[in-house]
Parts: sequence; C-alpha cells; structure tokens
Amino acid sequence: MNTTTERTLHKKDGKIYYETATCMYCNEKAFIEIMDVNKCEQWMKAEILAQQAFPELPTEIREQLISGTHPKCWDEMFSDEEEWDEYGYEK
Ligand SMILES: [Zn+2]
Repeated sequence: MNTTTERTLHKKDGKIYYETATCMYCNEKAFIEIMDVNKCEQWMKAEILAQQAFPELPTEIREQLISGTHPKCWDEMFSDEEEWDEYGYEK
C-alpha cells in the first residue's frame, strides 16, 4: 500500500502515541497508544505488516492505524448509504 499519509509518534506522560491520518469520514485525527515503539517504527518504514507490529490490537484498531478511519466511522460510512437513500440525499 502506498500512501502519502503523514505518520507521527507523540510522547506524552511516558507513553507513546501514534497520530493517525485524518479520518475520511469525520475529519478527526486520533492518537493510539503504542506498546512496542520499535515495531511501530518498523511498520512506519513498511518493513513489517501492521499485524506483525501490533498483534495485540483488534483488527479495527489496526485499520484505524493504517487508514485513520475510526471503527465507528467505518460502520457509519457503510450504514449511511441506506440512510441517504431514505433522506433522498443525492450527490
Ligand atoms: Zn472518524
């Protein structure tokens, strides 16, 4: 996967947080606590896969790390299509 996403680690209170890309649904970023910084850095350099770097994280959180999209927003995006039809919303 080839993205131009900015990838940044933040330190706060002795913990490391990964700043995700902007969520394409709600336009908010998120900060996810990183347990293994070395693996995270390897992942950021595309040396290992997300599931190798973060085996302890649920799949939806790994998705959020990769895409920036919140798990809830994924749900909204997919369930929204029907709602839009109900409201008569068209592009
Ligand atoms: Zn979101």
